[in-house]
Amino acid sequence: MDGADSTRKEVFIFLGPPGVGKGTQAFRFAKALEIPHIATGDMLRDAAARKTPLGLEAKSKYMDQGKLVPDEVVQGIVQDRLGQDDCQGGCVLDGFPRTGAQAEYLEQATSRLGLPVGKAFYLDAPEEVVVERTSGRRACPSCGSNYHVKHLPPKKEGICDECGTELIWRPDDRPETVLERQRVYRAQTAELIDYYEGRSVLTRIDASGDVETIQKAILEARSG
Ligand code: AMP
Repeated sequence: MDGADSTRKEVFIFLGPPGVGKGTQAFRFAKALEIPHIATGDMLRDAAARKTPLGLEAKSKYMDQGKLVPDEVVQGIVQDRLGQDDCQGGCVLDGFPRTGAQAEYLEQATSRLGLPVGKAFYLDAPEEVVVERTSGRRACPSCGSNYHVKHLPPKKEGICDECGTELIWRPDDRPETVLERQRVYRAQTAELIDYYEGRSVLTRIDASGDVETIQKAILEARSG
């Protein structure tokens, strides 16, 4: 835990196009602050792996096509998770909100819980960097850690450093679905940059460098 700021109870948000490195940075940030990392994509994939009706439907109808799962479904998942004890000292949201309606919902939910949105980090990088990162990404289906075949390989090829699970190439990281996810991001999520700028919590981070440099910039922006 990093000293004086540790008493601040806030929700941190990570915004940016698919493949920019949000998952990796949100995970590291949460670890550095010792607060929960809540990734709606991981929770939905976990529900699908457990073959719950909600998880199976979300995967087949939306996720595998690169489309967004309906707001009510994701909001329900986030509401349950935010209400748990370990979130009362703050948490990191990764992949939520993704629409204006989800952002409005979050504002109400966080004000009820007394956990304001402290910062929204907008990870920005040129499109060619983002596409290259997505195509080389490998993910841990168990703990949600992300790797890259070239830029962030695991210590042992194909195996998660954190939990030893075999890494996968997510179906929605295949080229055809990646393009749809980029389109959905521009159409439905990019507007949240203005939304959080308007609330004076947005911090733009240059996410074109290496993982350590970006992490340092985020941690500095958080204390600033
Ligand atoms: P991610 O791991 O964040 O890239 O999410 C993978 C997929 O899960 C997305 O492409 C969506 O289909 C779904 N998903 C995750 N978070 C949300 C959200 N906040 N709203 C709608 N769909 C979501």
